[in-house]
Amino acid sequence: MTQLEKARKNIITPELQKVAEQEGLEANCLRQKVAKGTVVIPANPGHKNLLPKGIGAGLSTKVNANIGTSSDASTLDFELEKLATAIQAGADAVMDLSTGGDITAIRRKILERCTVPLGTVPVYQAAMKAIKERGAIVKMTTDDIFGAIEEQAMDGVDFITVHCGVTRHVLEILEKNPRVAGIVSRGGAFLAGWIKHNDQENPLYEQYDRLLEIAHRHDVALSLGDGLRPGCIEDATDAAQIAELMVLGSLVERARKAGVQVMVEGPGHLPLDHIEANVKLEKELCHGAPFYVLGPLGTDIAAGYDHITSAIGGAIAAMAGADFLCYVTPSEHLALPEIDDVKNGVIASRIAAHAADVIKGVKGAKEKDLAMSRARKKLDWETQKEFAIDPVQFEKVLKKAGSSVSTCTMCGEYCAMKVASQYVEQDQ
Ligand code: SF4
Repeated sequence: MTQLEKARKNIITPELQKVAEQEGLEANCLRQKVAKGTVVIPANPGHKNLLPKGIGAGLSTKVNANIGTSSDASTLDFELEKLATAIQAGADAVMDLSTGGDITAIRRKILERCTVPLGTVPVYQAAMKAIKERGAIVKMTTDDIFGAIEEQAMDGVDFITVHCGVTRHVLEILEKNPRVAGIVSRGGAFLAGWIKHNDQENPLYEQYDRLLEIAHRHDVALSLGDGLRPGCIEDATDAAQIAELMVLGSLVERARKAGVQVMVEGPGHLPLDHIEANVKLEKELCHGAPFYVLGPLGTDIAAGYDHITSAIGGAIAAMAGADFLCYVTPSEHLALPEIDDVKNGVIASRIAAHAADVIKGVKGAKEKDLAMSRARKKLDWETQKEFAIDPVQFEKVLKKAGSSVSTCTMCGEYCAMKVASQYVEQDQ
């Protein structure tokens, strides 16, 4: 039985119990959310050393970090270093998006060391196999795709992105409504190319029951990919994007009926005033399925700083109800991320997630800010460090500036906190 089926049968699994403790929720209350499908706990029994996490309504907003080799760059050791950096920086989940080198060996090594839920995009493996054996991505076979899914599920991957909504009908809508940036999802582009070249329906859509059977057998959560997500703000919330989302909504229902946990992925590039509407649409059309957003990026011109762009969009999305933020690093649109990029991306997304959690009323979120503010007022640097989102950076900057124990170098002896305490507040 999957986590979803056990929750429906009133079973409190050890994974659910752990998530309830992390969130400060009563286990039965969390069980009801899992049973309804508004919360997922991606926890493949094959993933050893996993600290499970819950994703969905009423829980703290989670952050994912993407790592993985590309065909042009990186090694296994470098990706393992990124994995450790992402977890250390507080990522709640990691996705291995490797497309270079021995993908299977890399994934297995990452999985071995990954203590948070691990996600993948199996169509990458199928596409790389097709290139190696038949010379082109469009020569992937249906068995290549389902073979990769099966292998990754058996290895212990906790959630997989599957672009089931890139259907022939959705691609026709895209053709009739041309875009500036076209298709920007890698998996989406692979499948769209395959559909066009082979003049056949997307196997992940046509044989969805086969996918559900594998996901059910290994309790792999499905993350229904947004292959038609907008890749620039001009393309945001267009006909193709919404047509795909409607398909995903129907697939959410079928997954739940099959006892498979499911969440839905979302944009992408969105002007700030589209973000809330996109979250509401997903929640409505996809029956309250957890929403996993990739950004969103509110402007297209900030390459080099897109961790900031994405944190702005992520905070607005999470405040509107998005449950899971995929980080964006300063390297986005430019290069494969370096170690520092991974850390900066995770921290930027965690700031967005926490700022939203304060508004969402997530248990303990606002209290952290209050504790920090009280410590700041008292010039209590040790307590401030404890509540800082990145205590390492906190200490580094504090020490670099050579601050005294009583004030920092920002205002030095004219510290407002100190002056106010000395002359103003003592009279109050
Ligand atoms: S010196 Fe200025 S910035 Fe630093 S703690 Fe005091 S008031 Fe704040």
